[in-house]
Amino acid sequence: MNTGLAVDLVASQRDVAGSRSDAIVLFGATGDLARKKLFPALYGLAQAGRLDIPVVGVARSDWTDESLRMHAHEAVAAVFDPVDEDAFATLARELTFVQGDYQTPDTFDRIREHLGGARHPLFYLAIPPSVFESVVGCLAASGLSQGARVMVEKPFGRDLASARELNSHLRAAFPEEAIYRIDHFLGKETVQNLLVFRFANGPLEPIWNRGYIDNVQITMAESFDVQGRGGFYEEVGALRDVVQNHLLQVVALLAMEPPIGVDAEDQRDEKVKVFKGMKVIDPARTVRGQYRGYRNEKGVAADSQVETFVALQLEIDTWRWAGVPFYLRSGKSMTTTALEATVEFHQPPRILFAEPHVPSPHPNHLRFRLGGKEEGITVSLQAKVPGEEVVTRPVDLSFTYDEVFGTDRMEAYERLLADAIQGHAALFAREDSVEQTWRIVQPLLEDPGPVHLYEPGSWGPPEAEPLTQNHGGWHNPGEQL
Ligand code: NDP
Repeated sequence: MNTGLAVDLVASQRDVAGSRSDAIVLFGATGDLARKKLFPALYGLAQAGRLDIPVVGVARSDWTDESLRMHAHEAVAAVFDPVDEDAFATLARELTFVQGDYQTPDTFDRIREHLGGARHPLFYLAIPPSVFESVVGCLAASGLSQGARVMVEKPFGRDLASARELNSHLRAAFPEEAIYRIDHFLGKETVQNLLVFRFANGPLEPIWNRGYIDNVQITMAESFDVQGRGGFYEEVGALRDVVQNHLLQVVALLAMEPPIGVDAEDQRDEKVKVFKGMKVIDPARTVRGQYRGYRNEKGVAADSQVETFVALQLEIDTWRWAGVPFYLRSGKSMTTTALEATVEFHQPPRILFAEPHVPSPHPNHLRFRLGGKEEGITVSLQAKVPGEEVVTRPVDLSFTYDEVFGTDRMEAYERLLADAIQGHAALFAREDSVEQTWRIVQPLLEDPGPVHLYEPGSWGPPEAEPLTQNHGGWHNPGEQL
């Protein structure tokens, strides 16, 4: 990095900190992510009266302001029925389009014209990772990165080395404080609630450790297959697609120490400490699977070894967690669609309520249903079955978000866009945590081991069963424990 740029970065850092973004520039406005998530999120902000800044779409396609608005309307209508036309009109008023190549200076000159007097634009890179570097380079060369923020989509690299390379490109143009790496899991209400549940309820803290917790399991199951995106999935696989990012972020929220304060950096510091405490994943404690039929998908190699399922054991080598296995499992074409974290407690001494020959009752659990049907939390406790004999049975104390809070919730992308506009970075991944998570999965990238076939509609390959056998087996979402 040259000294001039370093000096500019310091100035830029001072300038951007605390300021509200005064424009959004959406690179890849013609793409899939923009259609599925970003236009509905911008519409949501408009509906909430929170979109009062210009939105400039950028892409190579030969679109106009009007065709972008039509496309945005279709994207919104695919999610919201009926569309609130007044809210859409607010979005449409702000929307303009710049057609141009992502490497041509002229494109960036025209972006500047569209920005008018905006001093703190938010650049959203909804483009393939292969184009990140040139766009970021052009933003720096044109001076547009000064005082600006940048939002970057996953994947943040393919491995530790490429993540470092990507970070160094980003850091050459933007200070870390201005880089917002999206992990949309962190925008989910249910995932944010993990922090509240743990740290707003005093009685939990004394038992949240190896003295009381036997194991933790996280399952992310999808009942659908690659849905025609075989070509994309061949480059990724389950480990890169969801474990290195989403599931490790959930582990961090379950395992972190209480943050020292409410600043974004206080939370992010604690998360990175969890990652630093994690041992690298042992390929011998990992099982990869592939659903039968994956190799017939369009864009998939006939002999593909890419995993559509992965199950593994993680260890966190800290005073709080040493010896407590964290089991992670994710797959496509599974029995159901669900995201669930289960915290299983040790069995109490069973002096009072069991005959020696009676099998132990199921241990107590906390189940966080973070996605899928009936998002909520369940505590499973033992209770006496009414009758002469002392017989115990697990009973559930449960709540669902829909029942208690209603169904009106801010969608993850809307929340994250709103936060980035305001300069709230707590829900975004910091450079050091991204590099730590790649460090943790790196041995599996180098030594992935075989893929085992499994039947679509199952819980994955039978080879994954033994992983948890010393801790009561896998807890399948939707099934009674
Ligand atoms: P797309 O493949 O739809 O690409 C987005 C836009 O980028 C396209 O409309 C195209 O616009 C432009 N583009 C495509 N290929 C190239 C290329 N080789 N060179 C220059 N421009 C190109 O991507 P998505 O919208 O699916 O994803 C965008 C980003 O978001 C990616 O980083 C992806 O990994 C990430 N992401 C996507 C998710 C999704 O559900 N789609 C989910 C999570 C992350 P034009 O040709 O008009 O310039």
